[in-house]
Amino acid sequence: MAKTAVVAIGGNSLIKDKDHQTVPDQYAAAVETCTHIAGMIAQGWDVVITHGNGPQVGFILRRSELAAHELHTVPLDSCGADTQGAIGYMIQKALYNEFRKRGMTKQAATVVTQVLVDKNDPAYQNPSKPIGSFMDKEKALKHREEDGWVVVEDAGRGWRRVVPSPIPKRIIERDAIKTLLDHGFTVIAVGGGGIPVIEDEEGNLVGSEAVIDKDYASSLLANSINADLLLISTAVEKVALNYGKPNQVWLDRMTLSEAKKYLAEGHFHKGSMGPKIQASIWFLERGGKEALITNPENIERALLGQTGTRIEPD
Ligand code: ADP
Ligand code: MG
Repeated sequence: MAKTAVVAIGGNSLIKDKDHQTVPDQYAAAVETCTHIAGMIAQGWDVVITHGNGPQVGFILRRSELAAHELHTVPLDSCGADTQGAIGYMIQKALYNEFRKRGMTKQAATVVTQVLVDKNDPAYQNPSKPIGSFMDKEKALKHREEDGWVVVEDAGRGWRRVVPSPIPKRIIERDAIKTLLDHGFTVIAVGGGGIPVIEDEEGNLVGSEAVIDKDYASSLLANSINADLLLISTAVEKVALNYGKPNQVWLDRMTLSEAKKYLAEGHFHKGSMGPKIQASIWFLERGGKEALITNPENIERALLGQTGTRIEPD
């Protein structure tokens, strides 16, 4: 039987650098990553693809802000849905073309995904994730007054809106994702960590102006569908200890205990590699068997055991 992997693709699979941010540029980057994902599917894997959306949400917010004199602005949960659709489309098109090229009969489909978070999550008491443009003080205080935004001053660079980043609790569309997967589809889901929703007193879902870490949501999804592997694709081939320092060492593998120890020792930066290691730790602690971190171009080789960093149970 085929093995299942959740493949979390990083920002570099859509935006390579500051000079390549247009939609055609993003598509070209997606095509490159999808070549390798199709390669992995050709090796026999069933795949759910998850992706980030930070810069893309930033673009929507900026457009929305510039057009505010004429058009309604877009709430953050809607930005999440918009980017899941647009990025899902890019990945579907890239995979369609790559499957066709390889003579594979696979199909890809995107599921707009809501992710339940707890309204009592401490993150709501301490919004910390900056989003949108920098503002001057006057504008920031106006948004605080009129829109209820939490705004903070970012050392020297101006004011910025911050939103909560709660822990994902449940993938609302889990059954739809699993059903598509069981019927042979390659699924794109939980884009941008999913659209955060909370339950009101009656149990109805309400969109939340928050953001969920895409690596955490990917890890939860991987456990919810009993995936064999959580594969995190990012801008580095392997994970390092003492990253960027003269005594840097690239790791081929770490056990769960080692991963926890290195994380506590501060080897993995908080806003980048840290969440990937934490996501891998949670995946294994909830019963997952293996997490693997590498870059898009090395996905197939890493799956054959030739590179990447593996995190395994003790
Ligand atoms: P993504 O968009 O894939 O989430 P991030 O920039 O958030 O990418 O995280 C990946 C980055 O983490 C790598 O490109 C690398 O620069 C950085 N990084 C931080 N600590 C480490 C480490 N210990 N080993 C390898 N890379 C690290
Ligand atoms: Mg990241």
